[in-house]
Amino acid sequence: METEINEFVEAHYDISAGQISRLEGYGSENYRVETKVGRSFVLKFYRPNDVENLQQLLEAENQLLMTLTADNHNGYPIPQADSEGRLLSFSKQKNRYYRLLSFVEGRLLCEVDHTPELLGSFGIFLGEMNSRMLGFRHLATEAREFEWDLKNLELNRKYIRLIENPSHRKIVEYFFLQYSELVTPNLEQLRKCVIHGDANDWNVLTSEGLVSGIIDFADIVYSPLINDLAIAVTYAIFDKADVIEPALSIISGYHSVLPLRELEVKLLYYLIAARASITVCHAAKSKADGLTEDYIYISANPAVELLEKWIRINPSFFENEVSRALGFEPKLRNGTVESDLAKRHKTASRALSLQFTKPIKMIGAAFQFMYDSTGKSYLDCYNNIPQVGHCHPRVVNAGQRAMAKLNTNTRYLSDVYNEYSENLLARFPDSLSKVFFVNSGSAASDLAIRLAAAHTGRAGIVVIEHGYHGNTRLGIDISHYKYNRKGGHGKNPSIVEAAVPDTYKGKFYDENAGNQFGRELIDQLCSSEIEVAAFIAEPIVGCGGQIPLPAGYLKRVYPFIREIGGVCISDEVQTGFGRLGRYFWGFEMHGVEPDIVVLGKPMGNGHPIAAVVTSDAIAESFETGMEFFSSFGGNPVSCAIGQAVLDVLSDEDLPKNAEDVGRHLKRLLKDLVEKYEVCGDARGEGLFLGLELVIDKGSKKPNTELASFLQNELKERGILVGTDGPFENVLKIKPPICFSVENAEELVSNIKQILEGLDG
Ligand code: PMP
Repeated sequence: METEINEFVEAHYDISAGQISRLEGYGSENYRVETKVGRSFVLKFYRPNDVENLQQLLEAENQLLMTLTADNHNGYPIPQADSEGRLLSFSKQKNRYYRLLSFVEGRLLCEVDHTPELLGSFGIFLGEMNSRMLGFRHLATEAREFEWDLKNLELNRKYIRLIENPSHRKIVEYFFLQYSELVTPNLEQLRKCVIHGDANDWNVLTSEGLVSGIIDFADIVYSPLINDLAIAVTYAIFDKADVIEPALSIISGYHSVLPLRELEVKLLYYLIAARASITVCHAAKSKADGLTEDYIYISANPAVELLEKWIRINPSFFENEVSRALGFEPKLRNGTVESDLAKRHKTASRALSLQFTKPIKMIGAAFQFMYDSTGKSYLDCYNNIPQVGHCHPRVVNAGQRAMAKLNTNTRYLSDVYNEYSENLLARFPDSLSKVFFVNSGSAASDLAIRLAAAHTGRAGIVVIEHGYHGNTRLGIDISHYKYNRKGGHGKNPSIVEAAVPDTYKGKFYDENAGNQFGRELIDQLCSSEIEVAAFIAEPIVGCGGQIPLPAGYLKRVYPFIREIGGVCISDEVQTGFGRLGRYFWGFEMHGVEPDIVVLGKPMGNGHPIAAVVTSDAIAESFETGMEFFSSFGGNPVSCAIGQAVLDVLSDEDLPKNAEDVGRHLKRLLKDLVEKYEVCGDARGEGLFLGLELVIDKGSKKPNTELASFLQNELKERGILVGTDGPFENVLKIKPPICFSVENAEELVSNIKQILEGLDG
């Protein structure tokens, strides 16, 4: 081989070749040629049909390199003319295009220590390179439809489904969505030129601690200028614990020679994510194609790790940091919410509460992370409405597509309505076979009570102490948590209050407690005059302080309610849709089948869709001649979104995740109970957990102050939890169920640190 190449070089170039060695690389076959007088070149062969428009692109590359090296700059490969004066030639004998370039000396960026100075020089080098390229045009680069070109991110969408790991897949899809929302509409505005397109650390050369050269111009495209910097930053921050500082070094260096514009700075966050996403997409494609070469996958893991880190960074924070480093006006305010508060109070009743002593203004979110207006990110351990994760791209896409097509009411026949109804009901026991769609949990619980009344002809409702079911008039009437607290009107005569079967503070606590609490309620009902239409309970009483109904309780109560002519309602607004892990619905945990089920919150992942599910017989009793109509309930957009939530739950196996992560988290919370006198009880199922804070274990007196302190202190540390229970002394933990083991550990170690601080 060596002699053959030697002969080839000497036959076509005015060079007397010495040492020949094969170089790695894809897209071409490369040889290093060292001459007898100590000069060094790279001979490259290209298969003619590998790339569309190969000849034109190679010509463009040569012309660009001639432009870049017009002053003999030795940081770029210089195309060498063959003995006939051509920079690119074709060998019929070999059936290959070929060309010779000067060899660029230096150590690869991936082989050296990335000091701030080195990264700064990288930015300067890129800025100088791009400045030299600004006026360069070539049709082939403009016509190129290239998947690695960031402006063509969409061309890679077809590979997303090939990403095997669902949690990687959804992050990539999320960044595709953000790109189409935020970058695509701005593409017109961005200044464009021919860019290098692949300034990764295997293509960048350094010498004496500074970047000195760049090779491999095979990815040149006519694209937004900022993409060159975005690509360089992406690779340079792979495998780094801190990604911000290195990024700022490169960006500042670049800006010092080629000033960036505000819009470019604004989009950088998303462009960096887009490049890492393309890398992940292509690794998945290569894997699906059965390719095994190591270099294909070299960037795939760091790219995924970067995306996982990136999603925790508030995009406004990144923009602000870059703006600050470049001397632009900072974008973020200093954390005061006074003017927002004033505006809110001008239009909103004080009855609408705000959380936290210092309220947060949220501006964005991704899965289990939320972003506020000061640039801070939060780990969301509390919001149970975005069940499959905030802004899940599949749910958002489903809603966007459906909204663009048709949004009307249920008085027309609709495929998506029928399909979603069937798929939702398939999740229930056969006895529950009819569904009514509404828009909120409150509307659903209200309707559930009306159904029960219509079916039984009675008005009495048995409710659990501290339970909450809705904000309608009827909802308040059946919510002890509301009517019995500040501003409440007290118990309505048709209500029977059942003691909350709390095995921590209540009078029964052993394995027979469910039976005993049940027995008490039955006794109470036996001596009550009220004619019971329904018994309504959550499987775990949420607002009551995450109190799981004890095993055996519903098994005892349900048959009795039916015996006295009532129906049983399970309010699954908080516990449903896989939050409890093994049990897709909370009633399954209790081994019972309700007559009516109330659904809400997670059903649309934040889109207002809710429902009542019931039996044929009860639904029939509601057919009184009066129409049931909900303007928005069951519209095609809501159904499409509801269907997307069901699909994501199963495709990402999220109930299983809730089970596994929930089990781990509960164990960690139980460890806190073992260790700290103020941690009275840890309880719940799946990712619906509570930590009850007490003054001391002996008295079990509520420690409201500590709960509030912990909640606010965690918020300062970027972690969101809620408090609940009649004394607001229970930390409520109910995160999006894509929550991870690492997230759980982060939460508990922060609680620990705060508690340790108290002890000290
Ligand atoms: N039932 C339960 C158990 C709830 O937790 C809630 C809301 N917190 C509702 C019903 C009412 O739902 P919405 O706020 O959607 O009206």
